[in-house]
Amino acid sequence: MPDADLVVRGGAVVLRHGVERADVAITDGVVTAVGPDLGRTGVTEVDATGLHVLPGVVDPHVHFNEPGRTHWEGIASGSAALAAGGGTTYLDMPLNSLPATTDGPAFDGKRAAAEAASHADFGLWGGLVPGGLGRLEELAGRGAAGFKAFLCDSGVAEFAPVDDLTLVEGMRRCADLGALVAVHAESATMVAGLARRAVAAGRTGARDFAESRPVIAELEAISRAVFLAGETGCSLHVVHVSTPLGVELVERASAAGVDVTCETCPHYLVLTVDDLEELGAVAKCAPPLRSAADGDGLWKLIARGALPIVASDHSPCPPELKAGADLFQAWGGISGCQTTLNLLLAEGHGRRGLPLASVAAITAGNAARRFGLAGKGAIEVGADADLAIVDLSREWNLQTSELRYRHRHSPYAGRRVRGRVVRTLLRGRTVALDGRPVAPPGGRLLRPSVDRNGQRAGSQRTW
Ligand SMILES: [Zn+2]
Repeated sequence: MPDADLVVRGGAVVLRHGVERADVAITDGVVTAVGPDLGRTGVTEVDATGLHVLPGVVDPHVHFNEPGRTHWEGIASGSAALAAGGGTTYLDMPLNSLPATTDGPAFDGKRAAAEAASHADFGLWGGLVPGGLGRLEELAGRGAAGFKAFLCDSGVAEFAPVDDLTLVEGMRRCADLGALVAVHAESATMVAGLARRAVAAGRTGARDFAESRPVIAELEAISRAVFLAGETGCSLHVVHVSTPLGVELVERASAAGVDVTCETCPHYLVLTVDDLEELGAVAKCAPPLRSAADGDGLWKLIARGALPIVASDHSPCPPELKAGADLFQAWGGISGCQTTLNLLLAEGHGRRGLPLASVAAITAGNAARRFGLAGKGAIEVGADADLAIVDLSREWNLQTSELRYRHRHSPYAGRRVRGRVVRTLLRGRTVALDGRPVAPPGGRLLRPSVDRNGQRAGSQRTW
């Protein structure tokens, strides 16, 4: 074996099929060998004895809000927080930045900002919005990760929801482009009507907000999107599904031949509507937090492999937008890109016995495959050396002082987390040490890989 630049020595390495005590040799940022006792080939060595080595988290759903709303988060602080939590790749959503990423120049502007400031590799979602169909091709040509559409109000005026005609025509074009469409699935008319009714009656508390966005509104929208994906031959991904019934709709459509997947988020797995009532707007999101039974159901779907991806949907804002008792007025969005791995290690692996290989699959491998991120999401020869080195013996209650976000609020404050991330490596380079960024930004744009037939590499259902 030729000399490696770096050997991560003696860790419990989380591979696709299980955990093995092994060394990981890295040359030019790429894994060149994984195995026991690789010999003294490394120019530099990292001692991982007693530690676990996981693939760096691949978070396909964040809003870092740059350019334009950098004061809400920004790429530098958002990606530093991700790296501190073991993250090495993210896909940034097209909205909440200004301009929204709905045309080529907006994509170029966000790409330049991320190349200057990102501590992790990144992909950029484009937007599918009314009037924007003529822009899909220029976005796909620049390497957009896929196209995000809202079936209900997005929360920001500059990113309009799709009508059914825009959705079906957009899906047709995306099918031709080999691009994937991601949808926020809640019925616009149901949630708007229920919200109007609640606000008019002065019912603006946490439970009123949750009841204005019922499960049926989510299921109706998922059903519609899945139907149109089947009709158009478009690859579909349903973001942040909050209820097991939603995942089951996706599962049934997939079994019937529609190319559809979905994700859930840590907040639907570890928080409930009772937490929303207790914590207030810091735990506001859409779809809203649901019941403990919904959370249990989602964990069961993860355990049997039917729910392949857990994304943070990190959607931060300044604290003043979370102030006040009116839950309809407060900004909806949870800050969470730093804590996904720690929460899943505590609640999933620790409390519910989810194998570490499954934790790695739902936090990294499956998203990398689905979104065609070549070289990402798994520790194997030829892959990028993106690693989260974790001390699983460490378990503690999360403190907001640990957070690297621009605004250090989190609905998980005080909650049990596990697995201190002692070092994060991006392509073999240490980017975070014990929760602190330690290297200048060096993130690169990732384009979804496409095979010779123009089909997305990740489009087949492989889990
Ligand atoms: Zn989102």
